[in-house]
Amino acid sequence: MSATTDYQALHWRLFTSFLSFSLVPLFVLGFFLYTQFSVSYKEKVLDGMRTLVENRKSAIELFFEERVSQLSTLAHSLEYENLIHEQYLLQVFNVMQTRSKSYIDIGIIDQNGNHVAYVGPHPELRGVNYKNEEWFMPAMSSGLYISDVFRGFRWIPHVIIAVTVRQQDKSFMLRATINLDIIENIVRSAQVGRYGDAYLINRNNILQTNPRFSGAILEQPAGPDFSRTSTTRLEEISLKEKRAFFAATYIPTTHWVLVIIEDPQEQLSPLLRARDWGGILFVLAVVMITLGTYMITRAIMTKLKRIAREKAVSDDMVFQSNKMAALGKMAAGIAHEINNPLAVIGEKAGWVKDLLHKENIQDNPNLKECDDAVTKIEYHVDRARKVTHRLLGFARRMEPIREVIDINKLLKDTMVFLENEAHFRDIGLVTDFDAQLPTITSDASQLQQVFLNIINNAVDAVDHDGEVTISTRFDDHANEIQVLVHDTGPGIRQENLDKIFDPFFTTKDPGKGTGLGLSISYQIVESLGGKICVTSEIGKGSTFTISLPV
Ligand code: ADP
Repeated sequence: MSATTDYQALHWRLFTSFLSFSLVPLFVLGFFLYTQFSVSYKEKVLDGMRTLVENRKSAIELFFEERVSQLSTLAHSLEYENLIHEQYLLQVFNVMQTRSKSYIDIGIIDQNGNHVAYVGPHPELRGVNYKNEEWFMPAMSSGLYISDVFRGFRWIPHVIIAVTVRQQDKSFMLRATINLDIIENIVRSAQVGRYGDAYLINRNNILQTNPRFSGAILEQPAGPDFSRTSTTRLEEISLKEKRAFFAATYIPTTHWVLVIIEDPQEQLSPLLRARDWGGILFVLAVVMITLGTYMITRAIMTKLKRIAREKAVSDDMVFQSNKMAALGKMAAGIAHEINNPLAVIGEKAGWVKDLLHKENIQDNPNLKECDDAVTKIEYHVDRARKVTHRLLGFARRMEPIREVIDINKLLKDTMVFLENEAHFRDIGLVTDFDAQLPTITSDASQLQQVFLNIINNAVDAVDHDGEVTISTRFDDHANEIQVLVHDTGPGIRQENLDKIFDPFFTTKDPGKGTGLGLSISYQIVESLGGKICVTSEIGKGSTFTISLPV
């Protein structure tokens, strides 16, 4: 048993070390590649967002700078006296709108805040005084004013650009309302993918455009506060347990901040797809490596067991041949020594018998007794001669020879060795031989050793009161002879079935079993071109089948 446990431990050790040597580098490599790839891919996505947000910022700046320079040119080059005539102002407004519809309306405000001329869709603004509006004084003093989005008198969100000019001793203000749709369009072009968003906020974190998903213009945005951003910021932030990439950049011309939001799931989807495929390939590789390792270690163990078995056989053969050489010499000597006197005794007994019948002692009342005695002498001399012949045959047992063998006879001869033992234990040795069995050319003494081992095991398994049936048959399909040894013993447990041919596997008590019998038998039968197999049923018994080619 201990040798089998050793084999199992060795098998397990080989398997785990092969497996760890192949899997650990795979794990390390996979982890390294994945982290490197995901870091650089994320950087690439964030770089893309930086480019986008800065590009949109430039577009917004350009738009406002163009509008400011246009309005400023007009205010400086046109006369206040003309501008306050709405007919004239309308012509100017039409010229401004020829290239793009960037403006909603235009108006002239004098230095007292009076709206002296107006062209646009809100005539109610005509004559309104702006002096008390919070933007009025800063706009008057700075010369240029770009508002945040506010509702004003018209109560509609809008943005104005106001340019203040001094002509002669009067100041006046040219005020134009910007078409918010154009700014919305510029911002919307930064809304990437199905879940991406983009919006503008002012320094008080108030929306200047309508976001795509939650919130509306002049409200606070749902996302984090980026209103204090002074350059460009890139961040990954969790919003309501959902991760999002943010890019924010400050637009100095308007003092707004442009915010872009992207969904990592969407932006990193090629990376996630690659990760999923990588995962599948990884699992496949692990399965294949595990299977491969298992098969390789199994093959190594089979080879190791085979080598151990062959070694056990050759050790056993050396031992047997040494023993037999000595025993054979002795047996041959004894047989020879006994054969000679036996021959003489036999001959003399024959002669005495002849004399008894020839001489004139027919009437002697002791004649019958003498005749019986001589017959008995002859019978026992014959028996003793058979014993000496068997001794001589036994002495030759280890000589490797190829001879024509009658398997039925060889089995009968083998059973002679076990008959007494079986009889003593009330075990019936039953034979069921195929009388038509062809002869085979093989090594009789080696085959005898195999039969002896297997029948002996069967007798041991039955222990007391049972039967061992030895049958032979010819399978003409496979052209082989089969010897079946069936016993009514306890059977072999399933987990032991594939171990019983291992060298040193035994379930017998120490001193009783060596665990070599079956392993040697297996080896012998294999070397003779045959095979041994076993079937067993717990509680019913086992059957060993030895197949030998004809
Ligand atoms: P040993 O007889 O010295 O134990 P073997 O190699 O001949 O060694 O047998 C190995 C083991 O196989 C035995 O210990 C026994 O457990 C089992 N075995 C062999 N033949 C039989 C059988 N006919 N019935 C039940 N168990 C058997």
